[in-house]
Amino acid sequence: MSRWFAVGLALMGCVWLAPSAGSAAEEVVIYSARKEHLLKPLLDAYRAKTGVETRYLTDNEGPLLARLQAEGAGTPADLLITVDAGNLWHAGEQGVLAPLESPVLTANIPEQLRDPKNQWFGLSVRARTMVYSTERVKPAELTSYEDLAEAKWKGRLCLRSSEKIYNQSLVAMLIARLGEASTEKIVRGWVGNLAVPVFSNDTKLMEAIIAGKCDVGVVNTYYYGTLKKEKPSAPIALFWANQQTNGTHINVSGGGVTRHAKHRAAAIKLLEWLSSPEAQGIFAELNMEYPANPQVKPHASVAEWGSFKSEGLNVSLAGQYQADAVRLMDRAGYK
Ligand code: FE
Repeated sequence: MSRWFAVGLALMGCVWLAPSAGSAAEEVVIYSARKEHLLKPLLDAYRAKTGVETRYLTDNEGPLLARLQAEGAGTPADLLITVDAGNLWHAGEQGVLAPLESPVLTANIPEQLRDPKNQWFGLSVRARTMVYSTERVKPAELTSYEDLAEAKWKGRLCLRSSEKIYNQSLVAMLIARLGEASTEKIVRGWVGNLAVPVFSNDTKLMEAIIAGKCDVGVVNTYYYGTLKKEKPSAPIALFWANQQTNGTHINVSGGGVTRHAKHRAAAIKLLEWLSSPEAQGIFAELNMEYPANPQVKPHASVAEWGSFKSEGLNVSLAGQYQADAVRLMDRAGYK
């Protein structure tokens, strides 16, 4: 076992973590918005397998992207790992990632879950779907995101803040599919149906359903999984949205190699390994997500939520329509 040290960078509010043992032939430096406990077990496994050392810096996506831009050609980062296709798309647009041709990545990751310009690749999948009170709602009453705008849900809907990129991506994909006018009608309907003000996170939203403040909401599947693991008898369940039409909205966590990577070849190899069947099971299971690589089955605790049809549009559209989505939600009074 290697010893680990952490150096607090007080000014940046972030922490470098690195194995302290000797100098390796190869090293990969990672900036990660995915939290340390979701990343470290994989990097440990990779090191044990290949001898390749990694150093990583974890922070929120905003500060990491700002740091990459500020550092420019001098950045130590080889790989950026973050959550939400909207953030990955944004990093691509900002020019901090470099496209790469990898037959391994294109074979392992479906086209829908990666950047059409090959600057980033999805590594895990989460659905953002409905969660409902099993005490006050019958699943047969639920159908689609669009339906949550109907009068029957008046005073019964809970939503998370529109400031969260997950909701911006959800609305962006509605725009991509339905156009702005129809999407704005839906979002106005949601706002009109709210039982209580919007929440700062998905878990608080589910707690409100459990407490009887509202009957239905929209959350990322892994938050539901985490809550149910802690409270198995909580009277809530998932409902797969839009099964009769376009499928449930999905999003990814993923990564890309930086434009100024000093260890580009090693970074590509690590990214390829993260997409491999060997790593995908761990990557997904650590956060109760779905593997991006279709050769790998979801963990049993995730599979028990049932199978569903997911939306087939490329997730990069969440980025392309993000600015439109933010303006639309603002117009519609979605706080
Ligand atoms: Fe999250």
